[in-house]
Amino acid sequence: MKAMVIGAGFAGLAAALRLCKAGLQVTVIEQLDQPGGKAIGWEGVPTGPTVLTLPEIPRQILGAFGQDLLGLKPVSPLTRYAWPDGRVFAPELELGATLAQLSTQEARDYRRLLHQARTMYEGARDTFIFGPPPTVARLMQYGLREGVRAHPLQSLSALVKSGPYLTPFFLRFATYLGANPYRAPAVLHNIAWVELGLGVFHLPGGMRALAQQLYELARAQGVEFLFGQKVRRMQRLPGRVGAIETEGGWHSADLYVSAADRHFTLEWLGLPRPSYALGVSGFAVLMKLSEAMPLGHYIYFSADYRAEWNQIAAGRWPQDPTLYLHTDGDTAFLLVNAPSLPSDSGGHPSSPSESQAYAQHLLRKLERLHPLPIAAWRALSPEDYSRTAYRGALYGRAPHGLLGALRPGWAVAGLRNLAQVGGTVHPGGGVPLSMRSGWKGAEWLLGRGGVI
Ligand SMILES: Cc1cc2nc3c(=O)[nH]c(=O)nc-3n(C[C@H](O)[C@H](O)[C@H](O)COP(=O)(O)OP(=O)(O)OC[C@H]3O[C@@H](n4cnc5c(N)ncnc54)[C@H](O)[C@@H]3O)c2cc1C
Repeated sequence: MKAMVIGAGFAGLAAALRLCKAGLQVTVIEQLDQPGGKAIGWEGVPTGPTVLTLPEIPRQILGAFGQDLLGLKPVSPLTRYAWPDGRVFAPELELGATLAQLSTQEARDYRRLLHQARTMYEGARDTFIFGPPPTVARLMQYGLREGVRAHPLQSLSALVKSGPYLTPFFLRFATYLGANPYRAPAVLHNIAWVELGLGVFHLPGGMRALAQQLYELARAQGVEFLFGQKVRRMQRLPGRVGAIETEGGWHSADLYVSAADRHFTLEWLGLPRPSYALGVSGFAVLMKLSEAMPLGHYIYFSADYRAEWNQIAAGRWPQDPTLYLHTDGDTAFLLVNAPSLPSDSGGHPSSPSESQAYAQHLLRKLERLHPLPIAAWRALSPEDYSRTAYRGALYGRAPHGLLGALRPGWAVAGLRNLAQVGGTVHPGGGVPLSMRSGWKGAEWLLGRGGVI
């Protein structure tokens, strides 16, 4: 049997490996000229993901082929946070070292909120992360089992209220799923446990190296890659997909996996777009340095985190944004949250000259807070991210409201030989969960196709 996978990001690479493991002849079609998707990199500088969590997920996938993550190391401190008044907080995996940096009241709040994040994560993981897309019955079981511990009717901002420093600190984790933290449901607090309780890890060469390892493994397993081929359309026959059209012609197979943004897949199939609101985008400055810097993750909070999110909600780039900085040897990556694009044709405020001006504004702020020997830089705006993410919304659907954290499933419009996987569907965004989506979504398709 033949299978075609669209997209050579983490989800597409994981899906290709799973299909290959089942004995299928697999071809991956990718519009870019290299694998990695959002992690493709610019001359060694990261373009997207830098914080590696849940390494057991890539390890399980690599382990199915006798490989492991090479040079995996825990990061310490997890991240170094700073506020405009000079306060610094650098949490560690070791709780004692973390609490020692806090006042008595803060330490009490931190313990309580960390415990709550853990309870939520452990309660939610089987339903929302490690299981298949939840059915209504499984959601009800989850609701009955977890009850008030899941804080179903509370907002994240009410749950984590704990003073001027810890409130923004705990709110920010919801941005890892594309949320505006002030509109996120309390259940997204579980993400804090993933980083603070389970740890942050680093691989030599960063996430790009992980994508390269998966790509080389897939090649060695016989997966064929067609780079520089942009999918335009999928032929929809009754109950199944007939073929994929790229600029190079038509391609057909028995099974299809789309590991591109869910909106793109629906468009290729001529199906209506979903009505849900989109999550946030990002604006990044990629930097090559003239001297090596130590490995580190840094957050420089804005003076008013709520005002920053009000500006983003109003569709504006924040004037005083919270900076995320990652340094690793002679590369640095600066990222701020930004609104996704208002329409398909882009539009304000993403014009190239405005992007350059905004990048320079960010670099001036960085110069004051964390001077770096910058040899060359380039900006990536929401418009640039819209190549891999519909309207630049990095995680698809906004995880807001009561059921907002639920991701769309793997099935598309009853087409039985197609699975939709990746960061915009179950179990959600981020590198490990996108890989999990690719692997398990492909497995689900194999089961549906009667292969396993
Ligand atoms: C700025 C930024 C920071 C992030 N930080 C982190 C982080 O620190 N930690 C973390 O875990 N995650 C992070 N993420 C999220 C993470 O990068 C994504 O969730 C993950 O990479 C998604 O993988 P994917 O394979 O689902 O999608 P993608 O990487 O988007 O892959 C989809 C692929 O499909 C291809 N494609 C799309 N359209 C077509 C077409 N028409 N024809 C052919 N191919 C097509 C694309 O080119 C792309 O290669 C970040 C993302 C961004 C952008």
